[in-house]
Amino acid sequence: MPSTAPHNQAAFFRAKSSDALLDDSLQAALNHAKGGFIKKRAEAIADVDSFESYKQQAQLVKNHTINNLDYYLHLFEQNVEKNGGQVHWASTPEQLNNIILHICERRDAKTVTKGKSMVSEEAYLNASLEAAGINVTETDLGEYIIQLAKEPPSHIIAPAIHKTRQQVEALFKEAHDLGDRQLDRIAELVDEARSQLRQKFLDADVGITGANMLIADTGSAMIVTNEGNGDLTATLPKVHIITASIEKVVPDLESASAILRVLARSATGQAITSYTSLFSGPRNVDDLDGPDEFHVVILDNQRSQMLNGPYEDMLKCIRCGACLNHCPVYSTVGGHAYGWVYPGPMGAVLTPLMTSLKQSKDLPNASTFCGRCEEVCPMGIPIPEMLRQLRNQEHKEHLTPLISRLSLAAYMWLTRHHRLFHWATKLTHWAIRNATSNSIIKTRLLKHWFEARELPLDDEKGTFLTQYDKIIKSTVKGQQ
Ligand code: SF4
Repeated sequence: MPSTAPHNQAAFFRAKSSDALLDDSLQAALNHAKGGFIKKRAEAIADVDSFESYKQQAQLVKNHTINNLDYYLHLFEQNVEKNGGQVHWASTPEQLNNIILHICERRDAKTVTKGKSMVSEEAYLNASLEAAGINVTETDLGEYIIQLAKEPPSHIIAPAIHKTRQQVEALFKEAHDLGDRQLDRIAELVDEARSQLRQKFLDADVGITGANMLIADTGSAMIVTNEGNGDLTATLPKVHIITASIEKVVPDLESASAILRVLARSATGQAITSYTSLFSGPRNVDDLDGPDEFHVVILDNQRSQMLNGPYEDMLKCIRCGACLNHCPVYSTVGGHAYGWVYPGPMGAVLTPLMTSLKQSKDLPNASTFCGRCEEVCPMGIPIPEMLRQLRNQEHKEHLTPLISRLSLAAYMWLTRHHRLFHWATKLTHWAIRNATSNSIIKTRLLKHWFEARELPLDDEKGTFLTQYDKIIKSTVKGQQ
């Protein structure tokens, strides 16, 4: 397990979650967003004959590629070079930053436009470029909003999902010279961002984008967006730099199509995103536009450590965000509580693996184990099982608090003594009933619990075991 993770704030998950529960604006934004993605995904899936077969094809592609990763990465590099571009390898985020900084300095770049790139978030690339005096502008609308707010993304496909329309309006009013223009409607906010970004695209010396896939047999990078900002970022500046991680490579365009079929449907509920673009190198002499230089920086950042191990399946993640949208924990506390780049169920696995389990030990526990994440994951990644393994690892490494370890040991002992267990659940039931009806407990002793949580209690039905016993008894009686 790597030990350094300077920007990992996951150690504060509990405190940040408590703050999130009490943040009315955040709760309003999360509630507003909650159903949208879920409904659209369900409709998009119902629209096709067999989403299951799409999923199987996409999973076959990923399984095959991960099993032959070195071969396809090497093939990709060869073909990028054939096309006149250059591939750079970065083991760590620091190396990725240094490579990009070196390219920018060699071209005497003063301004950079950026498309959405989660890999650059891993490396805190913006901070590194800005420290070198380079002006960076995010061009994805959500990323632009959070750049103005000086915040990290809170969702992997909707970075500003935690912001209300009013908060975005206030940000634009503070950052832009609006005169007497009004921004009462979302369309006006979009127009405002577009008008601000237009000149930035034209002025940029370097354009940096992410990539949804790297196509090995053509040496191309595929980018899917709904705003077209990726295309303007890639084609207008003299230099195009692509940031991607090792698992983004796929064998060919047919394989990429198999993944595209499940990606947009799982992410935004679209059959396909508005723009699906392929970038295959610098401009040719007779091309009308395109960059003079084309670079692809491929980051490892602990991913090769996952190969051939219990967490290898995580490398099949296509960053669709479906597991976040369907997670009861993510939908209640939002993305910032998770403290690092990747939130929600996939982040609860990736953050400990890519940064440090010790610092992120609360994340594998931020799950109800309802299993929705695995159910909706187009790549069939067994997230709950991985979270369970991380919990086991925490237990073995003594990272769980002593009180939890003792409580678990006591619970294990109790479950082996049926009568005592029965008695203990009745006692707990009685204690909870008193807690909910006693105002001193509610407003003083357990104030923080009741500020953010309900304790629904159906006195008529009793405990689970009482109900279970009743059902068994009536079944036996019915059979006699
Ligand atoms: S783990 Fe699955 S559902 Fe979650 S982002 Fe990755 S591919 Fe999508």
